[in-house]
Amino acid sequence: MDNEKYYEVYDWSNFKDASENTKIIASLIPSDVVSIADVGCGNGLITNELGKKYTIVGIDRSEAALKNVTTEKLQASCDDIPLKDQSYDLVLSSELLEHLDSPTFDKTILELKRISKKYILISVPFDESLNKGMIQCPKCELIYHRCYHQRRFSTAYFESIFPEYNLIETKTFGLNVRVYNDTIAKIKHKLTPSNTWIPYYWAKRNERKTMCPKCENEFDYPFKFNPISFLLDCLNVVITKKIPFHLIVLLEKK
Ligand SMILES: [Zn+2]
Repeated sequence: MDNEKYYEVYDWSNFKDASENTKIIASLIPSDVVSIADVGCGNGLITNELGKKYTIVGIDRSEAALKNVTTEKLQASCDDIPLKDQSYDLVLSSELLEHLDSPTFDKTILELKRISKKYILISVPFDESLNKGMIQCPKCELIYHRCYHQRRFSTAYFESIFPEYNLIETKTFGLNVRVYNDTIAKIKHKLTPSNTWIPYYWAKRNERKTMCPKCENEFDYPFKFNPISFLLDCLNVVITKKIPFHLIVLLEKK
């Protein structure tokens, strides 16, 4: 699943507040760090801020996104980065890994390990209920996550994919969001039409535009009330809890 085109046409000026993420990321950077490679830096909200204190390079595949990056920058895909082995004290990856398909993900993890001299700092959505964000393209019927998220993360998962590293710090933060039970989601997706899956209180009106990653069809997904969807959502509220949206982990080479 590729959505390269989407990130070029994306209105990066919409994405303008990462102050909480930046604050927490900055607070976790160890004191012996001088240089940072920010892999998947997007429009540089975090990169530009960290650039005031550190030698930093922002790396992103999207030319449109990099226009806003004021530090040193590099246009490259995160799974093939033209930087030397162990060339940066800390490799940062913020809200990137959840977007990658499996082959790209595996290669990207190898690249983070290769470039990092000592630390890797990663932020991702925390144990995200992917089923909650599913939408369906009306043209080709592909079912996909509305933010193109493809993977769910926990601290144990990071320990398993970074065996050469010690997990020295983990933090969850951000808005508390409700978990969605997988069985209830399965029933909802089976019994009800896709335009009833995401109620208006899960996604604002201006967040309901998307481009299908398979057929590139651009469409809105306005919400239609459906009593079965509503009852299933109510049932879900009774049996699940809320958890913070973000997870951040700091790894140090063994
Ligand atoms: Zn489609």
